[in-house]
Amino acid sequence: LAKSQFVYTLRAAEGGGPYIVSFSQSLREEKAMISDETLCWGTEKSCIREIFEYGLRRKAELGEDKVFDFSLGNPSVPAPPEVRAAILRALDDPTVHGYTVAPGRVSLREKIAGELNGRCGSRLGPEDIYVTCGAAAALASAMKGLTRPGEEVVALAPYFPEYAVFARGAGARFLSCPLRSADLQLDPAALEGVLTEKTAVVLVNSPNNPSGAVLNAESLGTLAEVMERAERRFGHPIYLVSDEPYRELVYEGATAESPLRYYDDTIVCYSWSKSLSLPGERVGYFAVSDRAAGRREIYASMAGAARAYGYVNPPSLMQRVAEDCVGLAPDLEAYRKNRAALCEALDAAGFSYIRPDGAFYLFIRSPEPDAKAFSLRAREHGLLLVPSDDFGVGGFVRAAYCVAPEVIERAGPAFAALAGEYGIT
Ligand code: PLP
Repeated sequence: LAKSQFVYTLRAAEGGGPYIVSFSQSLREEKAMISDETLCWGTEKSCIREIFEYGLRRKAELGEDKVFDFSLGNPSVPAPPEVRAAILRALDDPTVHGYTVAPGRVSLREKIAGELNGRCGSRLGPEDIYVTCGAAAALASAMKGLTRPGEEVVALAPYFPEYAVFARGAGARFLSCPLRSADLQLDPAALEGVLTEKTAVVLVNSPNNPSGAVLNAESLGTLAEVMERAERRFGHPIYLVSDEPYRELVYEGATAESPLRYYDDTIVCYSWSKSLSLPGERVGYFAVSDRAAGRREIYASMAGAARAYGYVNPPSLMQRVAEDCVGLAPDLEAYRKNRAALCEALDAAGFSYIRPDGAFYLFIRSPEPDAKAFSLRAREHGLLLVPSDDFGVGGFVRAAYCVAPEVIERAGPAFAALAGEYGIT
């Protein structure tokens, strides 16, 4: 209560409790300059967090084994042994904890550029790479550095909900453009329809959180064509920001290509959070294509944005770890097995879903139009699934299968019982 008293006042409702929590009028008067928008981002609870916290309460009430928590996207496999070895090596250098130059260690940026060039046919140098505190800082810097207030950022939906905060935080308008609901590939007409002369950025994330879908070569080629046409029509560059933290997490038969190969005005945002299971260590980067219009200026503008946000010097120790691990392929076996087990459980229950080619998420079709209502009914069976509305599309729930294998094993009967309620066979 002591902390929250600063922002909230608790008032007894007329006639005594229950208590109502309301925004303090006195704070408004004292600090008239406070932004409603940042206050809202700081106080609202994401749907994912809310479901996760509900799960913790239910586990305390019913026991751990009665709740099947598919709500969070935290990698469930440990960081590979190379990470530990790199940390120990780095600790031998007494200068390891010092500041690095603002864009990150040159030797790390050289390695990143080399890896991207080898895979995407680009000709990047270290001066095109900026090391950041994870993909989040890379994305926020890109939104701020690539837009002017009032310009538009379009995310292909379903999308990672923080995109909206990054775009609006930069003063831009946030819009979304749905992928085809049958297979989550590009719908060129939908994209064509949403691009305007105010569009500054299109945001794409493949392999995708929340669906696990991977954009195929046809979608990427068409995406580039539609955007090139729009650039010509409106007479200015439209930057494609490709958010790629899951790019190494791809299963048999699929390849996650980067749009860097397809479209000149591309910025890649990446982190080692998922590939090396290091989400708490905060290291990633942005890379500006060597073919991007005004490449030096946009790099400088994004670096300026990072500076304005105070994103200085991503952890020095982790920069060294990243340097030793650039290009290291993750061990996908645990996710591969979980994916197969979850698909099997859903097939047995009769649910329809989009078979994921990457990441560790799966999109289940809601058997009723309201995915939130479906998610609430799933809760009754101990199944914690996130409705797709927060990801910018309706009609699905997300299952994050980065869980212990027993969770999926035990969840089978719950999925079957849930399907039974809907008369699915
Ligand atoms: N982009 C996507 C699609 C994500 O799923 C996440 C994290 O879950 C991020 C960006 C942020 O990643 P990071 O931990 O590198 O900031």
